[in-house]
Amino acid sequence: MSSSRQSTRESLKRLRPYVAGKGFTEISRRYGLDPADIVKLGSNENPYGPSPKVFEALKNVSPERYPEPEELMEGLARYTGSPQEMLVIGAGMDGVMDTLTRLFLEKGDRTFIATPTFSYYEILTVLAGAEPLFSPRSPDFRICERIADEAKMAFICSPNNPTGNTLKEEELRQLLETTEAIVFLDEAYVEFAERSLAELVSRYENLVVGRTLSKAFGLAGMRLGYALMPEWMAREYRRAAPPFFGISCASVAAGAAALADLDFMNESVRKIRMERSRLQKEIRSYPSQANFLYLKTEEASDSFAEKFLQKGIIIRDCRSFRGAGENHVRVTVGTPAENDRFLAAFREIRR
Ligand code: PMP
Repeated sequence: MSSSRQSTRESLKRLRPYVAGKGFTEISRRYGLDPADIVKLGSNENPYGPSPKVFEALKNVSPERYPEPEELMEGLARYTGSPQEMLVIGAGMDGVMDTLTRLFLEKGDRTFIATPTFSYYEILTVLAGAEPLFSPRSPDFRICERIADEAKMAFICSPNNPTGNTLKEEELRQLLETTEAIVFLDEAYVEFAERSLAELVSRYENLVVGRTLSKAFGLAGMRLGYALMPEWMAREYRRAAPPFFGISCASVAAGAAALADLDFMNESVRKIRMERSRLQKEIRSYPSQANFLYLKTEEASDSFAEKFLQKGIIIRDCRSFRGAGENHVRVTVGTPAENDRFLAAFREIRR
């Protein structure tokens, strides 16, 4: 047997796998804790979960059938105010981005990535055989005024994970008007922010806005994402998309039900914003427009995060975010009781 046939692609050798926040199972096993006593504030999930209507809808799922997306697409069109011709769906926003990079990137292409930010942009770039161009954000996390000329695609996250700040409309327009790159604006956390910039999609032929039901709608486990994009791109998207867009009967049913109960989503966003400002004042993190806070630590972020883990509280050590350095952690805003547990630990650990 030829060993060269068993070797993986050379261009992927330097790729580090995606690092997710730690889970209940891992931490309960490692520290011998009851999962019910663990507070998970490391993955930017929504502790209120989805609308009760989602649980009802899941009872009527037919697992023996392939999924039919019509009702979900209608719900997304109503929620976003966007025609269905400008909407696409995928297995999480991750799945949407995967399809887009397969559609646009090939070997030798470059992508623009403003660091620190969500690491999957870099992974998808390298998977496509393309090369990421990293542009470090300023000390107040603003991105530079111009996208590198060589870039075929640019990834911009607003509110940005992990820093929590947003991009202004003028800044986005300036970027769009001075580049020919496809600009992917990641609005995963937009419901927690003051405003969205998605309306600009109808005015620029090179803007895509990615969204998800994982955060405000509380459906992270269902893996359902979508994007708003110009019609020409939505038509092309279907060429590179997997069969059934990577969705499932369960994710479609859950998504359609969640979109039919915006009151539930709005209420959980309201509670999270209130708790965000309570937490932010006490821990003096950077301001945030998302459901998490970015915090500078005096000691190394890994040992800081480890002290919380020992108390059953999962927060995110940000060393795996390129450009975040060794002294930042990210804390998801939880329920008032979860935040109280975090704050009690914070007071002890900081002392
Ligand atoms: N973009 C950002 C900025 C994120 O933080 C996440 C989730 N961690 C995603 C996209 C992916 O979201 P989804 O669950 O829809 O794949």
